[in-house]
Amino acid sequence: MRKVFLLVSLFAFSAFAQKSEELQKNLAFDQILGELVSRYENPNIPEPKMDGSIDPLKTDDRMYITVKASDKKERTRLLELGLDIMDIKKDSVSGLISKIELSALENKEFSIIGKKTIYDWAKQFEKDFPVSDSAYHNYNETLEYLKKLASENSDIASLFSMGKTIEGRDIWVLRLNSSAKGEVKSSKPGAVFVGNHHAREHLSNEVPLLFAAYLLDNRDKPEIKKYLDTLDIYIIPMFNPDGVEYDIATGRYRWHRKNARINSDKSIGVDLNRNYDTTWCQSGSSHYPGSDTYCGTGPFSEPETQAMRDFILARKNIKTLQSYHSYASLILYPWGGIYDPIANEKDRNAFIKMANEMARLTGYNAQQSSELYAASGDTCDWAYDKAGIFAFTTELEGNSFYPGASIIKKTVEKNIKAAVYLLSMTDNPYK
Ligand SMILES: [Zn+2]
Repeated sequence: MRKVFLLVSLFAFSAFAQKSEELQKNLAFDQILGELVSRYENPNIPEPKMDGSIDPLKTDDRMYITVKASDKKERTRLLELGLDIMDIKKDSVSGLISKIELSALENKEFSIIGKKTIYDWAKQFEKDFPVSDSAYHNYNETLEYLKKLASENSDIASLFSMGKTIEGRDIWVLRLNSSAKGEVKSSKPGAVFVGNHHAREHLSNEVPLLFAAYLLDNRDKPEIKKYLDTLDIYIIPMFNPDGVEYDIATGRYRWHRKNARINSDKSIGVDLNRNYDTTWCQSGSSHYPGSDTYCGTGPFSEPETQAMRDFILARKNIKTLQSYHSYASLILYPWGGIYDPIANEKDRNAFIKMANEMARLTGYNAQQSSELYAASGDTCDWAYDKAGIFAFTTELEGNSFYPGASIIKKTVEKNIKAAVYLLSMTDNPYK
C-alpha cells in the first residue's frame, strides 16, 4: 500500500515536475514579449547624459530632402546619385543625402521640393530616441539571449560565430538541428533567417531573435517539433553589429545604415546590402563612399558579406532564406538589381506563391524587389543567383527606422507566422 502510494506520488511528482518545466519553458517567449512591453512603458534605464555639443547629428552633414520622382527608373537614378530613399509617395521621394552628393544632384534634371538638415529633420522623432527604446536588444543583450537559448536547449541548439566584423565582433549564428551541432554539416534541408544588415533597422534584429525563442519554447508541440526534427535552421539576428553599436553609441540615434568600415575619404561604412556579387553596383547604389548606398570598393569587399558568402556556399543544403529589413511592410523576391522577372518559370511561380502567402500572413504586400526601385548587389539576388536559394527580403512595418518599442510585439507575432510558413516550404519550395 505504501509502496503503491509512493509510486503514485513519484509518478505524480514527476508529471508535475515535467508540467511545471513545460510551463516555465512556455513562459519564456511570452515573458520576453511582456517584458518588452513593460520596458517600453516604464523605461528604467537612466537617460544618457547628452551634452548638446556632442550630439552626433549636429556635425552630420547629411540633408533630408524631398525630390520629384514618379517611377521606379527615376527612383533608381536617385539612389545612384546617393539619395538614401526612406519614403516613397506617388510623385516624390524623400531621404537622406550627403552634402557633396546634394550639390551634384542640384545640377541634375531633378527638382528638389524640400530640404532640411538631418538635425532639424530628426527632431520630430525625439520621443523615440534610445532611452525609450531600451526594450530593443543591443549586441551584448542579443548575445546573452542567444547563449541562454542555446544552453537551455543544448540537445538541439548550438551557437557559433560565422566570422568577424571589421571591428572584430563575432557574427553569431544560432543553429537548431536535432542531429548536428555547430559547424558540422547536415543533409537536412536548411533555412536561414538573418536580420540587421542595416544598422538602424533595429526591429529587424528583434524578429529573428524572438522567432528563435518561439521555436524553442514550442519545441515539443507537434507543429513545431516536426521542423526541428527534419530541418537545419540557422538564425542570425544581428548581421551588422558594428553598425548597430555605432548607431546607438551616444544615446541618440545616428541614423546609421552601413557597417563601420572607415573609407578612403574618412566617411564611415559600406552598405552591406549592396556589397554582394550579383549585378554589383550596377543600379540603385553609389560608388561615392559617403553615400548611404555605397557599394564598397568591390563585390564582397567587407568581412561581413564575405562571412555570409562562405557560410552559404559551404552549405549546399540551404533551400530558403529570409532577410529582415525595415520599414515598408513588403515581402520582396528577386530580382532586385534588374527590372526583368526571374526567367525560370517554375522558380518564379514558387517565389510568387510563397511571397503571396507570407504577405497574407503578415498583412504586407508581396512584389518583385525592383518594383519600387532597382538596387543591385543585395543578399537575396546573390543567394538565388549563386546558390539557387529561395531568398526573400521582408521589409517590416513602421513609420520610421525608430518606431518605438510598442511595435515589437505585433510585428514579431505576425512575422513568426510567416517564418513558420517558410519552414513548412523549406523541404520542397515547389510544393
Ligand atoms: Zn534595410
